[in-house]
Amino acid sequence: MTVRVGVIGTGNIGADHVRRLSRQVSGARVTAVFDVAAQRAQDVARDVGAVAHPGWSGLVDAEDVDAVVIASPGPLHAEQVLACIDAGKPVLCEKPLATTGEDALKVIEAEVALGRRLVQVGFMRRYDRAYRVVKAAMDDGSIGEPLLAHMVHRNASVPDTFTSDMSMTDSVIHEIDTIRWLFDQEIVATTVVASKPSPLAAGRLRDPQLVLFKLTDGAVVNVEVFVNCRYGYDVRCEVVGSEGSVSMDNPSTNALLRAGRRAESVPADWRVRFDLAYLEEMQEWVDGLAKGVVSGPSSWDGYAAAVVANRAVHALAEGTRSLVELVDRPVLYS
Ligand code: NAP
Repeated sequence: MTVRVGVIGTGNIGADHVRRLSRQVSGARVTAVFDVAAQRAQDVARDVGAVAHPGWSGLVDAEDVDAVVIASPGPLHAEQVLACIDAGKPVLCEKPLATTGEDALKVIEAEVALGRRLVQVGFMRRYDRAYRVVKAAMDDGSIGEPLLAHMVHRNASVPDTFTSDMSMTDSVIHEIDTIRWLFDQEIVATTVVASKPSPLAAGRLRDPQLVLFKLTDGAVVNVEVFVNCRYGYDVRCEVVGSEGSVSMDNPSTNALLRAGRRAESVPADWRVRFDLAYLEEMQEWVDGLAKGVVSGPSSWDGYAAAVVANRAVHALAEGTRSLVELVDRPVLYS
């Protein structure tokens, strides 16, 4: 069976997903795309033999679209996901599922009313091999009882439109999901402290920031987020347990040895670092659809991440510890 996919949003990651689904993922074909930037959509469509639609809702309803990938700007996601649920079509929505907890809850309510999962959220780190090794060591008892974790999320630079809030809602939202997945716990409280700003951070951007998360069972995680580190993309994680620790360094792909020195490369951006994770994510999603199953990160994960990210924004703005309150988890996501 070939899954016919429609992609909404053909910017940075949308265009990558179109190419991945068309050239690297087996069992899938991109039949339709939409972007408000019509020329961009047409160029992407032509490249893979798809049709560029004049509107996103027509793409969702199209007969030759079995499943949808959403890669439009975050504020549009909830409405577009709800339309997919309404049409009974599986949807892989890039993070965030919604920009507010209230909108994410609407998605949960629609899925629960339907009685089955259609939504997967694009938290691709769960498909990264290095993170999976960390998770396996936590689950099989190799490090004893997991107690705390140290994480780093650095980007070389961000556009001038990037705000201090986006450090949480766009960047740390990946750590938020990773923490919940690794520890199999919810986050119950967060504190955020901004450093003195880097002189290279644009405007009033508060960068870097240090984030502290407390989990249901009392474990704690700190995250350094620094989106103007300049030297490259650097994502690290160490989980410390009662009997040992497991860590994941930023991978280097090359090393140059010369004149008594060893120089290693740093990934330029998230595309390079998580290339294989995006591929695994898409392949597992398509394989699942062929069997009628959606099993990746759920609407519940998207909801919890949105709520925590917004509480972290609040914590920075108010200079206080913010508590996280979630609704009861529906059995559909247990
Ligand atoms: P982007 O390059 O700005 O692409 C978004 C595209 O959607 C643009 O072409 C934009 O057109 C278009 N668009 C605007 N309004 C639209 C509408 N109503 N319907 C459909 N498309 C519309 O952004 P991006 O970096 O690809 O990010 C897209 C989403 O993916 C974001 O939610 C982002 O957080 C997420 N993302 C996830 C990862 C990950 O690691 N999982 C990585 C990158 C991005 P205009 O430019 O004309 O507005």
